[in-house]
Amino acid sequence: MSEAKNSIVDCQPNCGACCIAITISSAIPGMPQGKLAGEHCVQLDAARRCQLFGLPQRPQVCEQFQPRAELCAHGPLHAMQQLEALERLTAPAAKHFDSGVIHANAIVLLTTD
Ligand code: SF4
Ligand code: SF4
Repeated sequence: MSEAKNSIVDCQPNCGACCIAITISSAIPGMPQGKLAGEHCVQLDAARRCQLFGLPQRPQVCEQFQPRAELCAHGPLHAMQQLEALERLTAPAAKHFDSGVIHANAIVLLTTD
């Protein structure tokens, strides 16, 4: 993956793909068991922004997730498709990780330079 393709970008408006497509196993305010893949996070507002952004209640794993060009710069549909593919790739391995992480393999793929 090239540096440009994997560079950090701004989160795109009206997306929310990473708050829908991915399993989150750590507790989220309003979702104490986390959420399943494909389930909308209850903290996602009508404009698909995180209502916890900048607040201490925001899960650590969400803080660690950084928008990347390859994932985020091509629109919400592209982001959703990419994340759904990653979810399918990493789901079996995720059973081996403790709570507190989004599927760890997906995080590595999405955050490694
Ligand atoms: S997938 Fe990227 S652009 Fe979409 S909400 Fe997540 S960080 Fe933002
Ligand atoms: S807490 Fe915020 S960043 Fe994390 S999944 Fe929910 S809406 Fe997205």
